[in-house]
Amino acid sequence: MRFHAVILQFMPEHEVVTTAGGGQALKLIFAAAFVFGLLGLGVAVASTMGGRLPKFGKKGNIKKREKTVQTTEALLDSELSVILRFMRTYVEANDKYSNALDLAHRNLHALAKPEQVRAMVKFLVAENEKMRRDSEDLRGNLDRSREQIEKLRWNLAEAQELGLRDPLTALSNRRAFDINIAKEITEAQDNRTQMCLVMGDLDRFKNINDAFGHQIGDEILKMFAKLLSSNVKGRDTVARFGGEEFAIILPETKLKDAQTLTENIRRQLEAKELAVNTSGQAIGQVTASFGVAEMASGDDAAALVQRADARLYEAKCAGRNRVVIDQPAAAA
Ligand code: GH3
Ligand code: MG
Ligand code: MG
Repeated sequence: MRFHAVILQFMPEHEVVTTAGGGQALKLIFAAAFVFGLLGLGVAVASTMGGRLPKFGKKGNIKKREKTVQTTEALLDSELSVILRFMRTYVEANDKYSNALDLAHRNLHALAKPEQVRAMVKFLVAENEKMRRDSEDLRGNLDRSREQIEKLRWNLAEAQELGLRDPLTALSNRRAFDINIAKEITEAQDNRTQMCLVMGDLDRFKNINDAFGHQIGDEILKMFAKLLSSNVKGRDTVARFGGEEFAIILPETKLKDAQTLTENIRRQLEAKELAVNTSGQAIGQVTASFGVAEMASGDDAAALVQRADARLYEAKCAGRNRVVIDQPAAAA
């Protein structure tokens, strides 16, 4: 048996948050670009709103995150209003410049004397110079706004990313699981590929909490989450389904392979001998039970979860520390 020291490290609680600001901001940008016929500019600014999400890692609570999202959305809206104002000013300046050119054009035939032509050229040069300065100002202002939007976008993305992670284990949370399983079911149905779902639940976990305390329980949850993650790859999703129950979504995976993978996880966990590293107090063996189901045609997320969960329940009833696969789906 492999000795596994449990490290005490408490992390504060986080909750799920829903956000909708980015889309609204984008709409505003495009509306502005459309109104002013400056779609190119809209695309340039909007491109700063997309891109890679930052890594998960910041601590906070639901209130703080909601506040961050709200503040960021408000700041984004105000930054967009600033851009709209710049664009309006620019369009007005452009109109004035057009009027000046028009005036010059209409009066050109009446210019007889050289000094009149010189005055007209001077006027046109001055108008042109003004327009050039306005354009430069607009560009500078837009650059500054773009930087500001970029910073805000990162804040927003970070808050959104936090809303999809379980703060204790850093795994996908239930919300991310719901999104991913629906996506993977659709993909498997469209591409006619196999797909499996594993539901796993730590055995007699309440006893562990009762005997060693909630913080040690938390550390065991983190250890189990790491073990699950280390056994998957690519597009597979490991999620904390709730409490001490975890789920693994296995796209493009046959039931037999899902069973082998789950059996490996079960064995790796059972082989660990746990102890509290600060006191050396022995925790001993921790085990888990698993249910594995393969997606059948016509399955939606609820049906697949229900079948995997039913097998997990069977594993518990049969004595725990075992993997039960969904036989009807295997036969189909
Ligand atoms: P079974 O083998 O039937 O699954 O037994 P169990 O004791 O694991 O199941 P039960 O549903 O009776 O208890 C689950 C326990 O998991 C109780 C709850 O306090 C604990 N738990 C749930 N979430 C957390 C958590 O985030 N941290 C800790 N430390 N414990 C948790
Ligand atoms: Mg349990
Ligand atoms: Mg449970």
